[in-house]
Amino acid sequence: MTEPTRNKIFKALTIAGSDSGGGAGIQADLKTFQELGVYGMSALTAVTAQNTLGVQGVYPLEADAVTAQLDSIGTDLTPDAVKTGMLFSSGLILAVAEKVSQYGWDHLVVDPVMVAKGGSPLLQQEAVQALIRYLLPLALAVTPNIPEAEILSGMKISGMADRETAARLIHAMGPRYVVLKGGHVDEDSPMVTDLVFDGEKFTYWESPRVATQHTHGTGCTYSAALTAELAQHKTVPEAIQTAKAFIHAAIEDGLNIGSGHGPTNHFA
Ligand code: PLP
Repeated sequence: MTEPTRNKIFKALTIAGSDSGGGAGIQADLKTFQELGVYGMSALTAVTAQNTLGVQGVYPLEADAVTAQLDSIGTDLTPDAVKTGMLFSSGLILAVAEKVSQYGWDHLVVDPVMVAKGGSPLLQQEAVQALIRYLLPLALAVTPNIPEAEILSGMKISGMADRETAARLIHAMGPRYVVLKGGHVDEDSPMVTDLVFDGEKFTYWESPRVATQHTHGTGCTYSAALTAELAQHKTVPEAIQTAKAFIHAAIEDGLNIGSGHGPTNHFA
């Protein structure tokens, strides 16, 4: 008797915080993995008490708890791609960087999550240097928005020339691709332009701006879509194309739930 042939199951891991409201963090990541046909795993770094109105509490885990989760995954399940989201402290960044190196997780997307939309810090200020020093060198792609890129690069970004300079500076920190998202600037412009730098050339990805307040979890969802595509052995430019289309549709279908900023939709 022959075994039925099974399609290969691609697996993606998110190392990130929990959003009790379900719109961002590991919840957004796992829903996105599922929608894009990838088996999702999660290692939790922090619990947030959160809803559409904002972040009411942040409770980071001990580094040992994060290390133990990554060992459980690394010694049994082999992720095809990994992403990081909220890492909160330099201690957690160090723990994550050590395990990512140990297990050779080279399809790594680093979403340098720093502040929630309402202003709550999701990364301690003093942890930025640890992110730059220990995690960015391991990244295949890093996905800052403009405020995050300003903090990473140490420069103020106004025009497109500044974006290119900042992308070069961040690329020099080690990631193979810098995906600089344009959604946080030019809010009056009808188009959003993302800039991608691979160390040699810049490519520009434009999409129409969607007028909505239901964008909670956009960054998490985008980087999770990128990770899901990389887990399926797509190239970074191919993965960006799919992730861009996914996030555009997700923002267009943003969910009007709760009484504040609803989440982007995770249904493909
Ligand atoms: N909560 C968690 C756990 C997150 O990881 C993130 C973003 O990465 C957020 C909240 C912030 O989401 P937003 O700024 O889209 O509201």
